[in-house]
Parts: sequence; C-alpha cells; structure tokens
Amino acid sequence: MDNSLNGRKALVTGGASGIGAACARALAARGAKVVVADVDASGAAALADELGGTAWTVDLLDVDALAALSLDCDILVNNAGIQKVAPIEEFEPAEFRRILALMLEAPFLLIRAALPHMYANGFGRIINISSVHGLRASAYKSAYVSAKHGLEGLSKVTALEGGEHGVTSNCINPGYVRTPLVEKQIADQARLHGIPEAEVLAKVMLTESAVKRLVEPEEVASLATWMASDDAGMVTGASYTMDGGWSAR
Ligand code: NAD
Repeated sequence: MDNSLNGRKALVTGGASGIGAACARALAARGAKVVVADVDASGAAALADELGGTAWTVDLLDVDALAALSLDCDILVNNAGIQKVAPIEEFEPAEFRRILALMLEAPFLLIRAALPHMYANGFGRIINISSVHGLRASAYKSAYVSAKHGLEGLSKVTALEGGEHGVTSNCINPGYVRTPLVEKQIADQARLHGIPEAEVLAKVMLTESAVKRLVEPEEVASLATWMASDDAGMVTGASYTMDGGWSAR
C-alpha cells in the first residue's frame, strides 16, 4: 500500500504550537497540503510559510461560525486544547463551558463540516488528540477530563458512522508531552516547591512512567501520520495510548 500522503489535504487545529505543529510538519513531510488552523495568527502564518501550506486564523470558541462551515479536507486533526486546574467547587462554570466548547463541541462541528467531503471522496481520516485523561481521571481537571472523555465517545461514533464511507476516526492518548504547555507546568512546579526542574520530572511527572522521559511531540506526530495513511484503513474507533507505560500500571 502507498503510505505517502501526496495529494491529501490536511487540517490541523492548534497547529501553531506543540503537538499540532509537529503533526503539521510530519503530514507535510509525507506530501500532504496542510492548513494550520490556530487563534495565534502569526504562529500559524509562520508555520504555514515554512511548510508551503495555508494559515487559517480561527478562534475555535466561536462555535456559531463553525456550525456554518463546510470543510474540504481529507485529514482532520482535532488538536487544539487548553488546561485549567482547580477543585470542582472553585471551578468557574463559564470556564468549564469554554473548555468543553474548545475541546469537544469544536471537534464535533469540524467533523460535521468535513464528513460530506470525505464521504463524497470515499476517504477520510479523523485524528483526535485526546490524552491519557480521556481514559483515566485526575483530580482538579474536571473540565479537561470531561472534554477528553467526551472526545473518546465522539471519535467512536464517528468511526461507526464513517466506516462504510472510507472514513476512520481514532484517538491518540499521550501522557506528558514536551510542549510549551508542559514546560511551563514544570517551571511553575519547580518554583512552587523550590526544587530543580529535573526533580519535578523525576518526582512529580514521571513517577508512574516506565520509560522515565517525556513524550516528544514528533512521536505523537509519527503515530498521527500513520493513522492518516492508507495502511491504517482498518484502524478505527481505536484509542492509542502513548505514555511510556504510564497507564499499564
Ligand atoms: P500548546 O499549548 O502547545 O498548543 C495548543 C495550540 O492550540 C496553541 O497553538 C493555541 O494557540 C491553540 N489554541 C488554543 N485555544 C485556541 C482557540 N480558541 N482557537 C484556536 N486555537 C486555539 O498545547 P499542546 O501541549 O501541544 O497540546 C495540544 C493537544 O494535546 C491538546 O488537546 C492537549 O490536551 C493534548 N495533550 C497534550 C499533552 C501534553 O503533555 N502537552 C498530553 C496529552 C494531551
């Protein structure tokens, strides 16, 4: 089978940074034409320039606009996400809704906008960047865990509806990935506890990891490009953990 993505059109949300940027680069390296979709206009434009792709400046919280969209793409990577940590009784309802809108409603609306084109072509790849928190919970992350668990369900329903049309839908469930989001968390924890960053990694973040290092964004991107390929046509409705053995315990 042909594993290249030549001629495929890919859209990556949150494509200006971290995992999304790595996915955009890896998909482009395999030959896909990539749209880098992000609220960060300059970041999206810079990466689109680098890849010979297109930037789409979009605030995915604008769900009314997304509901009116029609998307012409073969590969959709639902990646944009944010994190907020607080106990439930202190969690602002508006913040909860915002996280659900970005990380569950927006993926639903983009899938909804992309499926007619994918069905017409008899080919489509939906790749949802979930998290180990799509499968297991963690205290103080009510909105994040709820959104990621919801994304798992949405991904499976998409797989069931899309299968006969050549459309697959899968989740990737990373543990801690070395991105700006996580590097900031490490620095914050080091300051908070007055310990070196290496100690934060060893004693806080990687205690349950078998491999004892962060996941690299390129490793997530490598799995995403495989899921996007013709080779992965029978892989659908699946959730692939990439957490260095964290959830094997
Ligand atoms: P990141 O902060 O590096 O990148 C997120 C991108 O999303 C940014 O470019 C940001 O501008 C964009 N974004 C945020 N709000 C947006 C909005 N309203 N509209 C459009 N774009 C918006 O984050 P990351 O660490 O690369 O995380 C990407 C995804 O991977 C998230 O869904 C996250 O939950 C998931 N994830 C990350 C980790 C990790 O350890 N970093 C682990 C598991 C899952």
